[in-house]
Amino acid sequence: MKDTVKNIAVLGATGSIGSQTLDIIASHPERYRAVVLTAGSRADKLIEAAIAHRPRRVVIGRTELLPRVEAALAPLGIECRAGDEALAECVEADDIDTVLTATVGYSGLQPTVRAIRAGKDIALANKETLVVAGEMINRMLAESPSKIYPVDSEHSAIAQCLAGEDPACVKRLLITASGGPFRTWPADRMAEATAADALKHPNWNMGRKITIDSATMMNKAFEIIEAHYLFGVESGRIEAVVHPQSIVHSMVEFVDGAVKAQLGLPDMHLPIAYALGCHARLDGAAGHMSLADFATLTFEKPDVKRFPCLGLAHTALERRGNTACVINAANEIAVAAFLEGRIKFGQIYGVIERTLEAVPYIAEPVFDDYVASNAEARVKAAEMIK
Ligand code: NAD
Ligand code: MG
Repeated sequence: MKDTVKNIAVLGATGSIGSQTLDIIASHPERYRAVVLTAGSRADKLIEAAIAHRPRRVVIGRTELLPRVEAALAPLGIECRAGDEALAECVEADDIDTVLTATVGYSGLQPTVRAIRAGKDIALANKETLVVAGEMINRMLAESPSKIYPVDSEHSAIAQCLAGEDPACVKRLLITASGGPFRTWPADRMAEATAADALKHPNWNMGRKITIDSATMMNKAFEIIEAHYLFGVESGRIEAVVHPQSIVHSMVEFVDGAVKAQLGLPDMHLPIAYALGCHARLDGAAGHMSLADFATLTFEKPDVKRFPCLGLAHTALERRGNTACVINAANEIAVAAFLEGRIKFGQIYGVIERTLEAVPYIAEPVFDDYVASNAEARVKAAEMIK
């Protein structure tokens, strides 16, 4: 009899999305098994997750942590590896069905490329992969049996709204945004906001980098780019809508005027389960939502003046080439500097804008051009911050 349990490689297993993915796998051993777990630097959490899940292999990014991981896991028969090549190569094994990508930033690109080459399905949390190299990824998908199933709640919502619909009948994608912690703050107060202020997301408990991206609304810009590459809708027909309650996860408007929305509690277990199941529904994936508890759902236009990062989505999709790759790299450097107190919240956008001017434009980048643009943008952004 064919084994019907799906084997999952969980990249970024110690993070917010990674650990919620492991919750789902643990609750459904009849459906899922974690065969590979990876982490960047949190060895203790990786060890704990591996003891619970008994994967075939674990990979830790930081090579100096390998002895600690090996001491704990090798006696259990778990193969332990370390370093960037091991993080990318581990997705290729024959027994893997789906690769869930939940690492942060540019680090998601290389393993995703390798997973597509190996024909694996991808449950994509790492939106930065499509931001950096969406055109290349789509070219690769066209020549591979791999499919991408979005984990991002907005894109999961759009996929749910599009189920059974003719893509030619889509008029607009409406991507909801909570507005983040600074939705109602005046610009001068926002400019001086601290990391502690920015890390207080009103509705979602996420990793630090995406939480800062939510505060600048760069996250929403990335999600517009992500939606463009996932659903093939041009940027002029993708809009961000501020919806502070985070109950409507996104909407699709059709040519006949109908608007479909997907609603639910702000709980990532639902979109993760929908992606792992290749768009099959999992009984009890998230909690029950009572509309009576959310009697008021509000929607407003985003303020691009106070959130200039949001406008970068359209800059990226109009200029194309390596533009979004450069924006992503500069943003990663600026967010890290902000979290370390080296720049102010109000300076994040300026670092990105000036990096974009400083890095040469490449109209039709191939893989090595993305690697080079990413590296160059990081150096330029870091120089500016100094
Ligand atoms: P997180 O910081 O909580 O976890 C990140 C994970 O990736 C950890 O396991 C960490 O060890 C690993 N990691 C970090 N840098 C790495 C590197 N350079 N190489 C290898 N591994 C590395 O982050 P998160 O909030 O879980 O977000 C993960 C991804 O999912 C991001 O791309 C984010 O935008 C996306 N996402 C997250 C949420 C959410 O609710 N947290 C929602 C939508 C999308
Ligand atoms: Mg999202």
